[in-house]
Amino acid sequence: MSYTHIFAGNPLDRGDRERRDDELIKRMMRQDNVRILPFHELMPLIRRSARRNPHAELAWLSHEFLDDLPPEAGGPKFLGFDEDRNPHFAVDISVVEDPSQIAALAPGATFEDGRSAAADIPGDQTGILAQARSNLNWHSRHRYCSACGTESQSQRGGHMRQCPNCDAQHFPRTDPVAIMLVYRGDRCVMGQTVARSTTTFYSCLAGFMDQGESIEDGVRREVREESGLEVGKVTYHSSQPWPFPASLMIGCHAEAITEDIVVDDGEMSDVRWFTRDEVKLALEDRLEGVNIPGPIAIAHHLIKAWANGTANI
Ligand SMILES: [Zn+2]
Repeated sequence: MSYTHIFAGNPLDRGDRERRDDELIKRMMRQDNVRILPFHELMPLIRRSARRNPHAELAWLSHEFLDDLPPEAGGPKFLGFDEDRNPHFAVDISVVEDPSQIAALAPGATFEDGRSAAADIPGDQTGILAQARSNLNWHSRHRYCSACGTESQSQRGGHMRQCPNCDAQHFPRTDPVAIMLVYRGDRCVMGQTVARSTTTFYSCLAGFMDQGESIEDGVRREVREESGLEVGKVTYHSSQPWPFPASLMIGCHAEAITEDIVVDDGEMSDVRWFTRDEVKLALEDRLEGVNIPGPIAIAHHLIKAWANGTANI
């Protein structure tokens, strides 16, 4: 079974050949069939309708509003082409103090938090939202060359920044995170991080991959650090882009070869074993005192696949 998670399955052709042609990018920005998605402080413009289903969608604009943007806005970043070859761009308008005039160009649209909007827009649009949000965030955080400190310039429609002083090329980053459901026999492990405000939220263990580490290495290290458990077999399940700001969640199942949990209390407030029956109740929101992630998160699907016996283990 293959999964297409929220934020995965972006249908756009990212146009690698076309984006290397600066003149073409500039021309496409002004075409009648261009679709431009503005973001204000990383919030996408979303149009909601009481009558449609799904009841929200990305609110694409034509190019006229670009003329009124101050140059500090940084210009649109090319996302790619849809199946009709309409070029799509995203633009960061955070420098505009009052974004409501731009929002008004799409009747009924407002700038919304990307995470909650993603639950209400069509699945293929969540992939575009992930690409756009991660890319605009990277440009806003990487304006200066990390080698010499000179202000760098966006190239290839936003796929790269180049330093005009030392010629260093900088590429948008994606940060891999290993997320795994640890199991042994008929039990699995879930934990809660100290950062969570509710004491009932349990989820898979997870952590950023380190440099010079395979996915399997990262899974085994994170599980050891957070729970004290040793892991043998690691199997891949599926992955999910998570654009807050630019993670790639790599979902795995990990078979524990030990049973005694030692909680790292700097990072986790609790880690414990759950039976399959408890997990099935939790998936139906019927396990008292325990809440687990909903379907927007890959953790939900890792838990569910193990509970239902459909995991590749
Ligand atoms: Zn430089």
